[in-house]
Amino acid sequence: MAAPMLRFVTVPQGMPEKRAAESRRHDFGEIYAEYAPAKAEEQAGRCSQCGVPFCQIHCPLHNNIPDWLMLTAAGRLEEAYEVASATNNMPEVCGRICPQDRLCEGNCVIEAAGHGTVTIGSVEKFVTDTAWERGWVKPIRPALERAQSVGIVGAGPGGLAAAEQLRRKGYQIHVYDRYDRVGGLLVYGIPNFKLEKTIVERRAAWLGDGGIKFHLECEIGRDITFAELRRRHDAVLIATGVYKARDMQAPGSGLAGIVQAMTYLTASNRKGLGDAVPEFESGKLDADGKHVVVIGGGDTAMDCVRTAVRQGAKSVKCLYRRDRENMPGSMREVKHAEEEGVEFVWLSAPEAFDGKAKVQTAIGHRMRLGARDSTGRGAPVKIEDSTFRLPADLVIKALGFDPEPLPVLFKAPELAVTDWGTIKIDRRTLMSNLDGVFAAGDIVRGASLVVWAIRDGRDAAASIDRYIQAKAANAGITAAAAE
Ligand SMILES: Cc1cc2nc3c(=O)[nH]c(=O)nc-3n(C[C@H](O)[C@H](O)[C@H](O)COP(=O)(O)OP(=O)(O)OC[C@H]3O[C@@H](n4cnc5c(N)ncnc54)[C@H](O)[C@@H]3O)c2cc1C
Ligand code: SF4
Repeated sequence: MAAPMLRFVTVPQGMPEKRAAESRRHDFGEIYAEYAPAKAEEQAGRCSQCGVPFCQIHCPLHNNIPDWLMLTAAGRLEEAYEVASATNNMPEVCGRICPQDRLCEGNCVIEAAGHGTVTIGSVEKFVTDTAWERGWVKPIRPALERAQSVGIVGAGPGGLAAAEQLRRKGYQIHVYDRYDRVGGLLVYGIPNFKLEKTIVERRAAWLGDGGIKFHLECEIGRDITFAELRRRHDAVLIATGVYKARDMQAPGSGLAGIVQAMTYLTASNRKGLGDAVPEFESGKLDADGKHVVVIGGGDTAMDCVRTAVRQGAKSVKCLYRRDRENMPGSMREVKHAEEEGVEFVWLSAPEAFDGKAKVQTAIGHRMRLGARDSTGRGAPVKIEDSTFRLPADLVIKALGFDPEPLPVLFKAPELAVTDWGTIKIDRRTLMSNLDGVFAAGDIVRGASLVVWAIRDGRDAAASIDRYIQAKAANAGITAAAAE
């Protein structure tokens, strides 16, 4: 077989100023600053109110999209907000960061007819931001206070959605999180240019005002035992997300300058929040002036490449072992990244890293797609003698996440997990094998989406309510007034 032609990727020397300026086009704050009521009404008015709302079916929350679009088109924004918020605990977040091209908008019949989707996410975001500005987002004031309490481990979207739903029913809600801020990956994973942190802070403050108690920098398994948590509360929800970064072993992979995606993104987010971040200030986790190579093809990789562009990287390359059609990340994100100057090196994988004290070169090889694997996609196969070298001062590994070993961390070996380490639940009740212990979000699904975590949180809340009420009924208690 003839040796395949080697293609050395051209490295742009310096991110041109024009490109940096163009990159800002995709910062949400700037796009939506221009998203005036007239634009929202115009977009909403494009909805054909088709008989079969595929957008609604494909939204994990089954949001009543046609109705809120109709109300927006009629200028009845407060009612539109009421409809939008009836099924979604964070419409302003989902409107910004749902991969709409794979969910509601990707199934819009107008899009299917070739006329371009109604920008559902943008309208959802616009309507909810307007509601916050005009004071239509009313505080949580339960009609009755219940004595029973629920302990929620994890202040990410799954835990927060459950907290709100249960608090509305009058339960005493305590949310525990090992981070110092409320929001989980909304704060420390997703970059500010996609989701401004003030949006998450506003939601967190509102939940606190509604009577939800947050116990921050409190790690279950370290600061409080899982057994103690179960003793304290009538039910417990585990919504801890997935944080064990997948890694790769290759010669040179221990060199300085090779970091995990979450380490890199957390530093960037903390910096943006005004925290002191010595590893950023020392330059270790700052892409400014560097040749950056990101490994992976998911949404986390997209966030890394786009963050590196914004930090002023000299060049940003993304190595992914499959092709564009078979990457897991959102196509919209790829398009944005390309417009911002990121170069995708499709069908390629790293095999080694070179450098003296720190990484200087990433050595990769070409791949082709072979027979389909268990994911239904062509399995990447190495092409022999196809090695290439890329300059790399900073290498970011974005290979995905697995669950941490919760039974070990919680010192609860009796907590059943699947072969993948996610918590085993009864799909009907979302309860684990332990009585009164429920689970929701990424720790059940594996790395997923915010909107699915919200959906799970809502479902878990409904199930926890039924569980507590059934127990109370058995014990002859209906609703005891709390202090
Ligand atoms: C970089 C990145 C970008 C992403 N971008 C998008 C996007 O654009 N759109 C999208 O829809 N999804 C995105 N996702 C996925 C999305 O963020 C997750 O699916 C979602 O946040 C899961 O919610 P969760 O509540 O299950 O977990 P998390 O948001 O991970 O929250 C879990 C919380 O539990 C806490 N915790 C863990 N263990 C303990 C313990 N023992 N004690 C106390 N607290 C604990 C953690 O500190 C954390 O705050 C992204 C993910 C990443 C990593
Ligand atoms: S929650 Fe997400 S999927 Fe559902 S309508 Fe909003 S943007 Fe679309």
